[in-house]
Amino acid sequence: HFLLSTVPALTVEGPFALEAEFQADSDPSKVNLIIGAYRDDRARPWQLRAVVEAKRQLRVESSFHEYLPLQGSREFIGAAKRLIFGDAIVNKISESIASIQTVSGTGANSLIAKFLDKHTRCGSIWLPDPTWVNHKDIWEVNAPRIEMRCYPYYSDSTQAVDFDQMLQTLNDAQQGDAILLHACAHNPTGQDPTEEQWDKIARLCQAKKLFVIFDSAYQGFASGDLDRDAWAVRHFAAFSDLEIAVCQSFSKNLGLYGERVGALHVVMTRSPPTTATHVQNRLVDLHRAFVSMAPLFGCRVANQIFQNQELQDMWQADLTTMSGRISSMRNALYSELLRLRTPGDWAHVKNQVGMFSYTGLSKEEVKVLRTKYHIYMLPSGRASICGLTNTNVKYVAQSIHKVVT
Ligand code: PMP
Repeated sequence: HFLLSTVPALTVEGPFALEAEFQADSDPSKVNLIIGAYRDDRARPWQLRAVVEAKRQLRVESSFHEYLPLQGSREFIGAAKRLIFGDAIVNKISESIASIQTVSGTGANSLIAKFLDKHTRCGSIWLPDPTWVNHKDIWEVNAPRIEMRCYPYYSDSTQAVDFDQMLQTLNDAQQGDAILLHACAHNPTGQDPTEEQWDKIARLCQAKKLFVIFDSAYQGFASGDLDRDAWAVRHFAAFSDLEIAVCQSFSKNLGLYGERVGALHVVMTRSPPTTATHVQNRLVDLHRAFVSMAPLFGCRVANQIFQNQELQDMWQADLTTMSGRISSMRNALYSELLRLRTPGDWAHVKNQVGMFSYTGLSKEEVKVLRTKYHIYMLPSGRASICGLTNTNVKYVAQSIHKVVT
């Protein structure tokens, strides 16, 4: 008769559960390739130099802790918008973009799901298969009315984007459906469409009048360059008749994971200007009901960087440091597997972009790596390259070699 006695049991799984298992492992050779968070060459968390300097300049000990406006910090939102869309697009269509500061990328994804569910006739959301593990839960929890569908994204046999299958499946999408695309550095596969493929996807969305949702969690991590990694978003936003949302996270590219810094932008070029106001006010209203407003501290740090050229230059150098180390670890793992003559073609380890390698290792192989060699990665075979260091990369390659031979 107590309410709580009927709560169904749930075993907590996924990356954070695996992380707890890793922490409890006492083996000295253990290697953590689980979570997508940057680590330095000693596998330790790293503060961006730009962030350290921004905090020093802010003199945080004397700062106030007032509420932000419901929409979030105006300065932060303005700068975040320019970072993802670029000056040319913002100068042209600023009035047609509704933006709100969110509880990082997860908050932005959740808010757009809630918004489409409550205020539009969106029928289905098309998610890539595979995708970030949280996408399905986010849509299930926040958009119970919207049907979840999947489109094939990756071919295990070619270890590349399965473009033909993707387009063929999306032929079933109906006007008023939404499609989720990863802006760059697709999680978990590390494979992005080519520019030509992006253009074809944009034209398909245009022809079918699909609402496009870009999840942008890795701007600056694919190529090391913020503008280059925004190419797909800007290409779509330049179409005059596409409706687009961008879920923007600064967790990875500013290393502000726990501070929850992000934004949601909704672009509607063909609609009358009043539509942007309606959308803006509805987003703020929905947000108010579940978090009121996004947190202040991380946004203040980000803003300090965005408003200051010297800190922006430092940030760009930090992105080069991070993407450069990831790239050198990809090469090191690849060369070692090649040297060992490990069966299989491992070029994908080197060619994929972003933080992850979709190794192609099976669930069973991943399990043996964990239980026998204390190397932890997701059951899908996704390994966070950030966990590799000059000290452990040989051990990881040798262990993979033993597991697959
Ligand atoms: N989208 C994708 C594809 C991600 O990989 C992540 C982080 N793992 C996020 C969104 C959200 O991260 P956060 O909420 O920390 O911004």
